[in-house]
Amino acid sequence: MASIDRDAILARLTDVPGPDGNGNLVSLGLISDIVIHGGKVMFSITVDAARANALEPLREQAAAAVQALPGVESTLVILTAERKGGAGAPPPPRPARPAPPATSASGKPGIPGVGAIIAVASGKGGVGKSTTAVNIALGLAANGLKVGLLDADIYGPSVPRLLGLSGKPETQDGRTLKPMEAFGIKAMSMGFLVEEETPMIWRGPMVMSALTQMLREVAWAPLDVLVVDMPPGTGDAQLTMAQQVPLAGAVIVSTPQDLALIDARKGLAMFRKVDVPVLGIVENMSYFLCPHCGGRSDIFSHGGARHEAERLGVPFLGEVPLDLVIRETSDAGRPIVASAPDGPHARVYRDIATRIGAAIAGGAGARPAPRIVIE
Ligand code: ADP
Repeated sequence: MASIDRDAILARLTDVPGPDGNGNLVSLGLISDIVIHGGKVMFSITVDAARANALEPLREQAAAAVQALPGVESTLVILTAERKGGAGAPPPPRPARPAPPATSASGKPGIPGVGAIIAVASGKGGVGKSTTAVNIALGLAANGLKVGLLDADIYGPSVPRLLGLSGKPETQDGRTLKPMEAFGIKAMSMGFLVEEETPMIWRGPMVMSALTQMLREVAWAPLDVLVVDMPPGTGDAQLTMAQQVPLAGAVIVSTPQDLALIDARKGLAMFRKVDVPVLGIVENMSYFLCPHCGGRSDIFSHGGARHEAERLGVPFLGEVPLDLVIRETSDAGRPIVASAPDGPHARVYRDIATRIGAAIAGGAGARPAPRIVIE
C-alpha cells in the first residue's frame, strides 16, 4: 500500500479556504498534528466554539480534500475549539494539575496509594495488545493483587468493550473520577468519557493532559499494580507515560511474524531510551490449537519472539495461542481469565502475570523468574 505523505495532505488542505473565506486552513495555522494510521488520516481544525455548527461544511470540505489522496482509506476530521470547548468537539480534557511536589526515587512523582505501574505496549496495532493487557491484569488479580487497568489507547479505546463495561464514571468530589469496576479490577478509559462514535483527535499537549488526568485524577488507590494499555507504536502517549510517572516496566506484546518483531524492537528501543525497564516480551497468537482435534499448528513460524527476546537480552514472558475462544470471550466482554479461570488459556495468562509480578517485586517469592535486564 502506498504510504501517505503528510506534505501531500497539507498541500491538499492549502486548497481549503479558512472559516472566513480568507487564506487557507494551513496558512492560518488551524490544522493540528496529522496522525496517519495505515490508510486512516486524522486531524483537527481549530475553530471558534460558537461557530462549530456553522462550520460543519468546512470540516466536510477538508475531509473530502484529503480523502481524494491516493492511499487514503478513511479520514477522521473534527473541529476543535481549544480554549472555550466547542459544541462539535469532544469534551476537552481538563488542564493537568501541576505535578505534586513529592517525587519518587526516579525523580518522577508516583501516584499515591498505587504500587507499581506497568505499561503493556506493542510496536504496531492489531497484535492483541489490549486483549493481553486485560488478561494479564485479571491474571495479576487472580494471583491476589489489587489491580487497576488504565486504557491509554486514546486513539482507539477498547477496554470498555473488553471488560463489557458501559456508562460513565462518577465523580467523587466534583473532580476525582471513580474508576469503573469489572471482574474485581478497576478500570478507566477515554472510552467512558466520550461517545463511542465521537471521532477524536488529539494534539500532543492534549494527549499529555488526558493521560495525566486519567493517572492522577482517578481514585485508583489502593492498588498493588496499575496496568496501562498503551496505544500502539511510539508516540506522544509513550513519552508522556515515561515522563510523567515512574514506570516499573514495560511488557511488549508481539506476534511471531518478523515484521511485528521489527516493530516490537522499536518499542523496546524507545522504552530503553527513556530508562523504562523492559519486563519482557509476550508472544501472542503464537500457535494454533485446533478446537476439533486438539492438534497444535505453528502457523506463524512460532518461536520468533522467544528467540528475539534472547537475542535482545530481555526476558521471554510466555506464549499465548491463537484461539477462537480468546477472541470470542474478549470481544464479548468476558475475558478468558475471568470467564474460564480454570481453563488452559487462563493458566497461560496467569503464568505470564506471575512472571510479571515477580519481576516488579524484584523476583522475590516467585518461582524461577526469567532474567531481568535493566539497562
Ligand atoms: P491490539 O490492542 O493490539 O490492537 P486487540 O487486543 O484489540 O489488539 O486484538 C485484535 C483482535 O485479535 C481482537 O479481535 C482480539 O479478540 C483478537 N485476539 C487477540 N489475541 C488473540 C488470541 N490469542 N487468539 C485469538 N484472537 C485474539
